[in-house]
Amino acid sequence: MSLNVENCVRCGSLFRRVRQPLCPNCLKKIDEEYEKCYKFIRKKENRACNVHELSEGTGVSLQQITTFILEGRLSIDNNPNIEYACKSCGGPTRSGSLCQKCVGNIKKMAGYMQEDKQRQEELVEEERRSKSGFYQVGRDEPRKS
Ligand SMILES: [Zn+2]
Ligand SMILES: [Zn+2]
Repeated sequence: MSLNVENCVRCGSLFRRVRQPLCPNCLKKIDEEYEKCYKFIRKKENRACNVHELSEGTGVSLQQITTFILEGRLSIDNNPNIEYACKSCGGPTRSGSLCQKCVGNIKKMAGYMQEDKQRQEELVEEERRSKSGFYQVGRDEPRKS
């Protein structure tokens, strides 16, 4: 029997896990932090703020703000200066966990890999053909007694 008791990933206290790896206390705190961020960036005078000003103004960590944005919870559509760090290169981005440059690189890499795979498949196919040809020749040879 399992009680699903876990340590909260945020504060470390034991709790009975329901869905998230966070205790009810932290979930409540995160909700409050979200409220703060939401209210902050919607104020007219804060429209032009960047993510550091948002963090300082609300006391919410950059990491938590980034999480809100990545979860799609916090919309930054009306705040053109809010950017967060790309997961790969640390450069600024406004959508997804990677910046445009890294997304481009990954697409390129995937393209190369696709080409490699095709080339490999061609090689395997060629080898198979040459082998089966060899086999054919071998079978047609007269048996040694
Ligand atoms: Zn907690
Ligand atoms: Zn990047």
